[in-house]
Amino acid sequence: MIQIHTIEEWRDYAAQLRSAGQTVGLVPTMGALHEGHGSLVRRAVADGAVPIVTIFVNPRQFNDAQDLAAYPRDEAADLANCEAWGAAAVVTPSVHEMWPTSPATTATTVSVTGVTELFEGEGRPGHFDGVASVVTKLFAITGPARAYFGEKDFQQLAMVRRLNEDLSLGMTIVSCPIVRDEDGLALSSRNVQLDGEGRRVALGFSRALRAVADRPRTARDVRAVVRTALESSGIAVAYAEVVEPLLLDPIGNQHEGTARVLLAGVVQGVRLIDNGDVTIVSSEGE
Ligand code: AMP
Repeated sequence: MIQIHTIEEWRDYAAQLRSAGQTVGLVPTMGALHEGHGSLVRRAVADGAVPIVTIFVNPRQFNDAQDLAAYPRDEAADLANCEAWGAAAVVTPSVHEMWPTSPATTATTVSVTGVTELFEGEGRPGHFDGVASVVTKLFAITGPARAYFGEKDFQQLAMVRRLNEDLSLGMTIVSCPIVRDEDGLALSSRNVQLDGEGRRVALGFSRALRAVADRPRTARDVRAVVRTALESSGIAVAYAEVVEPLLLDPIGNQHEGTARVLLAGVVQGVRLIDNGDVTIVSSEGE
């Protein structure tokens, strides 16, 4: 496995792989890697792609300076993990390499409307513009045939699918299921910011998702059950909504079939998200 620091070397490396007929698989991350990230790299290997992992804590997608400063970093462990998972290269560019004129004054912003408006978009102004701008840059440098994203960030995944279609980027976007700890907590780089008590509270997310996954329910029922489960766990709820899985429109009372529950809340000052499938039955005429 090689480590790359500069855009020039990164672009050349990916171009060489493509001209040798290899399938380049991009795995964008912000580091502090765990088995959730590992599942993306392993999936790329299983697909026969050459996995290039990028590790970049992108200042442009943080609307809160404290959140950016507190974001966990552990490059040595990340490199060891990437090697074990089968990455071919890890790219660790500096902020200056990615945004030479400073993140805040970069003139170009990529903005995806629609799917980004609610949920994380509402709670974190500018977040998705920052993500869309950085992933577009990663795609432009790497030229991957395939790009791997986790369902953990469900709204981000929906946005990247739109970006890929609207700008005809021609990649295959591969979505990977949420990896959880044995107790049900979705793996997240942010979990290290919780103590034992915080972890116990955060288990409310997976408990809420399990509570509505047992049988088909009306959307109204789903909203009520998950909110109660979160609040009784001590989570300060940011949102608890049930949406149509592609466009993320909140579903009305005519919807039937599979939908996605999107949850966000704050535990010990740390903003956490989770999501899962539910089956909805119409509540029309109730
Ligand atoms: P991050 O480093 O948090 O920006 O995440 C990088 C990628 O890993 C994103 O596509 C995430 O959705 C994905 N990811 C993070 N946590 C998990 C998880 N627990 N299961 C699956 N994918 C994940």
